[in-house]
Amino acid sequence: MPELPEVETVKRGLAPVMEGRAFAHVRLNRADIRFPFPDNFIERLQGVILERLSRRAKFLVAELSSGETLLMHLGMSGSFIVGNKRAGQNPKHDHVVFTMSGADNPLIIYNDPRRFGFMELLEAGDLGRMADLGPEPLSNNFSGPALFDKLTNKKAPIKSALLDQRVVAGLGNIYVCEALFGAHISPLRLSNTLSEDECELLSAEIKTTLKLAIEAGGSTLQDFAAVDGALGYFQHRFKVYDHKGDDCPTKTCAGTISRIKQSGRSSFYCDKCQK
Ligand SMILES: [Zn+2]
Repeated sequence: MPELPEVETVKRGLAPVMEGRAFAHVRLNRADIRFPFPDNFIERLQGVILERLSRRAKFLVAELSSGETLLMHLGMSGSFIVGNKRAGQNPKHDHVVFTMSGADNPLIIYNDPRRFGFMELLEAGDLGRMADLGPEPLSNNFSGPALFDKLTNKKAPIKSALLDQRVVAGLGNIYVCEALFGAHISPLRLSNTLSEDECELLSAEIKTTLKLAIEAGGSTLQDFAAVDGALGYFQHRFKVYDHKGDDCPTKTCAGTISRIKQSGRSSFYCDKCQK
């Protein structure tokens, strides 16, 4: 599933071919993906300029010259194909085709086999699904003290709290596991037992983990742009995620990575060095 770093990479890949250009043509190959497309979706986009593409949590946010905002979410399996160069995506899952203006008329195809992604149009001033999001993890609004404030009244395990988009926006299962490992905090710890120092360390680990993944995505992006033109997926090397039974990567620790279920999702951690 694309997480924040993947979505950031997609944004960086799409911005150069979409920003400042109009939607010359929009084609929908079905009436819905996860949700129905908005009323008059095609008419509300064609001829409209995409002024700025940004990311908020795992949303791609396109500000339009019409005053509306196009919100796009990749769901579980969404990806964009730029310029019709595929990385194995089956064309039968191409759901949206944007042709952007300009001499080269770039094609931007949205492909999504499982169809958990969606696109929505927000009127000016409407934040829609972004209204309740907590701070962006890479922004200055997210810090040790800010995290401590959010956790101090929460009894849920820290793993669940970090997946709560109101606590911090855009974190998913993989990077929560990785950041908790980096901070030596067990996913089972109750949120309100974390000290201010631990919150400081944890917020720093969240930022570092995401930044490294975005850098890795940047290098992947160059490959994708050059070779495949497909954006949405790449494999990072994870320390604990999906490493059940492996030796703990902490040099001084002789522990083994365990997998447990929390709220129906897998947590990977080392019970020797994560307390
Ligand atoms: Zn360990």
